[in-house]
Amino acid sequence: MIRFLGRGSAFSDEHNSAFFVSEGRLILIDCAMSSYQKVKKMNLQGVKGIDIFVTHTHSDHVSGIAMLIDYFWFTSKLPVTVVAPSQEVLEDLDHYLRRIDGCDESWFDIVTASDYKGSCLKAVIPTTHSEQLEGRCFGYAFDVDGTNVVYTGDSNTIEPFREYLTDGTELYMEVSSARSPVHMQIDDMLPFIKSVRSEGVKVFLMHLDNEAEILSKIEGTGASLAPLYEGAYAGGVATEDMIYDITDKLYKTTCRNDEQDHNMIFGDLTTLGKNIVGADRASFWKWDKRRHELWTTAATGVDRIVIPDDTGLVGKAIMNKSVLVTNDPYSDPDFNSSVDMKTGYLTKSVMVLPVADVNGEFIGAFQLINKLDNKGFDAVEDARKLSLPALICGLALESDTFLDDAHHDRLTKLKNRIGFYSDFSRKFMKYLETDCDRPLSMFICDIDKFKLVNDTYGHNAGDQVLEHAAKLIMESCEKGENAYRWGGEEFIVMMPDTDLMKAAAKAEKLRATIEASDFPADGITIKKTMSFGVHEFVKGKSIEDNVSLADARLYTAKETGRNKVVSE
Ligand code: GH3
Ligand code: MG
Ligand code: MG
Repeated sequence: MIRFLGRGSAFSDEHNSAFFVSEGRLILIDCAMSSYQKVKKMNLQGVKGIDIFVTHTHSDHVSGIAMLIDYFWFTSKLPVTVVAPSQEVLEDLDHYLRRIDGCDESWFDIVTASDYKGSCLKAVIPTTHSEQLEGRCFGYAFDVDGTNVVYTGDSNTIEPFREYLTDGTELYMEVSSARSPVHMQIDDMLPFIKSVRSEGVKVFLMHLDNEAEILSKIEGTGASLAPLYEGAYAGGVATEDMIYDITDKLYKTTCRNDEQDHNMIFGDLTTLGKNIVGADRASFWKWDKRRHELWTTAATGVDRIVIPDDTGLVGKAIMNKSVLVTNDPYSDPDFNSSVDMKTGYLTKSVMVLPVADVNGEFIGAFQLINKLDNKGFDAVEDARKLSLPALICGLALESDTFLDDAHHDRLTKLKNRIGFYSDFSRKFMKYLETDCDRPLSMFICDIDKFKLVNDTYGHNAGDQVLEHAAKLIMESCEKGENAYRWGGEEFIVMMPDTDLMKAAAKAEKLRATIEASDFPADGITIKKTMSFGVHEFVKGKSIEDNVSLADARLYTAKETGRNKVVSE
């Protein structure tokens, strides 16, 4: 079936135009300014391009085409093809689009219907309408999912369309209530409508100047008004396609996720949720229980937005462990309108779906804003549509937390030995390949006579010394460098693209910083030193062999007096 973006005449708010999806393309029949405004808000995920079939060049049918071309050229780059029913109409359109409306010829394609390649077009049907457009008015016959569809466009006669009307055909015909030489008048058309209805033709009326009156006149004829488009989608095909597109991308890239976190999963599934529910905006919020914070990654993927967990609608949904819908947020005391105030955005509807880990503990939430159909969210139906993305995000968030815990040392907050091996295989392994000509260096360092701290000041003091040492080591790292707690009071610093000499200089600088620093030790401060073994990685040798070579130099440093850097 085709859907109408508007079914009104030139004098109505919503001018006549319709659409359907064929071979992944959105087929628009005419595009007035009011249709363009609707297409702009459509969910076109999965649509590969837009083909606009023009019936005639009156502006209540074509005035939105130039805007639509501009819009897609500057935003999504979705290709737009304008299909003219004849060469004469093509030339008129070309004149209008390029010279009157300033579209660049590289922004769109324009073809005559006879050159159109899509399989949906069955026939171009010349008809008559206004005197000025003599020879330049057409209707069409389409194949829409196997159904024969006849679309009259504006016409003052039904005659040219008769031969295309077979049993099962959907006929979309214009009628008006007012009598004029340029349109088919409803009273005049009633006998025709009754006759084709009895032959199995389904009749839908469009381009209506007075809907109420026309509706009353077709009572009992079996004809109906053309169906208006209400949903957020361009068609069921697009919804299915976008689910497969996103899950396929996730499946293929999860295995080589360089960041080794799930931000890609959260990002893509948030987009998917937004599209299948038909919302204008969506975000995925993570709950940091320890800090009592909710945070999300902004659209740029860089900035974190953090809010206290006891504020706002997201916090409320997580605390209440249930789906939250408000289709009148400004009268909800938990709605925080400050973002609207700052950005000028008007939030009209909000839905929050909390997500849980495998134990059923709520750990995050999806937030969707402004349902595109303006009808508001449905707590049951929209939650059902979001269920798969929500489930996967819950598991991904839980596994992120586990991974993060497993890779970090709680005391110093540095990555631990597991974190080291994980980073090595992702970031540093390539440096060990024999054909890599970039240097990679490391040092391993160990607190001198650390056991004495424990023995003298107690275990707490020992812990504080470790924390302070870790802080100084971390602060010494520059961009691209990483520090790890290798074990006990031993640390490793990795320095990609750094040769032995530079690495030794860095180690020396850190050694001096440590020597000069006051270490907190359970209420007092003490002085500590560290010893360093510096090593430039030998290509072709294993990680373990390389670390052993660094360790041997640390041993030498210890053996030869401590508080020193050994790099040979
Ligand atoms: P050296 O200069 O030869 O390195 O002497 P050292 O005393 O630093 O070395 P040793 O290996 O004999 O002692 C390390 C001590 O570190 C032993 C262990 O109990 C302690 N230690 C390891 N991990 C921790 C920890 O997390 N906290 C505290 N307080 N002590 C720790
Ligand atoms: Mg030690
Ligand atoms: Mg040690």
